[in-house]
Amino acid sequence: MRNEEAPGPMTQASAPEAPGRLGREGARNIAGPTTQFAVLVADDNEVAQRLCRRVLEKAGYPVLIAADGLQAVDIALNQHPAMILMDVAMPGIDGLEAMRRIKAQVPTMPIVIASAHSMSSDRDRFLAAGADDVLSKPFRLADLIAIVEGFAKAKTG
Ligand SMILES: [Mg+2]
Repeated sequence: MRNEEAPGPMTQASAPEAPGRLGREGARNIAGPTTQFAVLVADDNEVAQRLCRRVLEKAGYPVLIAADGLQAVDIALNQHPAMILMDVAMPGIDGLEAMRRIKAQVPTMPIVIASAHSMSSDRDRFLAAGADDVLSKPFRLADLIAIVEGFAKAKTG
C-alpha cells in the first residue's frame, strides 16, 4: 500500500480516465517490473471504472480499462493483463462472450465475472462458462482487493 502525498480523487496516481488515454501510462505499466500485476477492468459504467481504478491503483495494481466487450478482448490479447475483472452486461458483445473469446486464445488468463445478477445459479453458470471466480455486484471494495490479491499471490507463489 503506497502512501499518496495528496488526498482526493484527482491525484497524479489516478491517471485521467479518458478513453484512448492508455497509450503512455498503459505501456509503462505493462512494461514495468515483473512484479507489476496489471488488472484489466472491463465495465461500461464509468463510475465503476473510476472506483475500481482508484482502489486497485491505491493497492499497487496497475489498471487498464475497457468500456465494452470487444475492447476487453482487444486489450486482453494485446496488452496481456495479469487478470481481468469482467462485467457481464456491456454494449456489443457481453462479458461472457468476451470471456469465451479471450479464453479461447489464452486459457490461463484469470477472469473474474462481476455481475449484478449473481444468484447461486448464475454463479454456477459463470463458472461453467469458464470464469475463475464470480464477484456479485454491488461488491465491497475490500472484497475486490481480496480477490485480486488472491490471484496475484497465486501467480507469484
Ligand atoms: Mg454493465
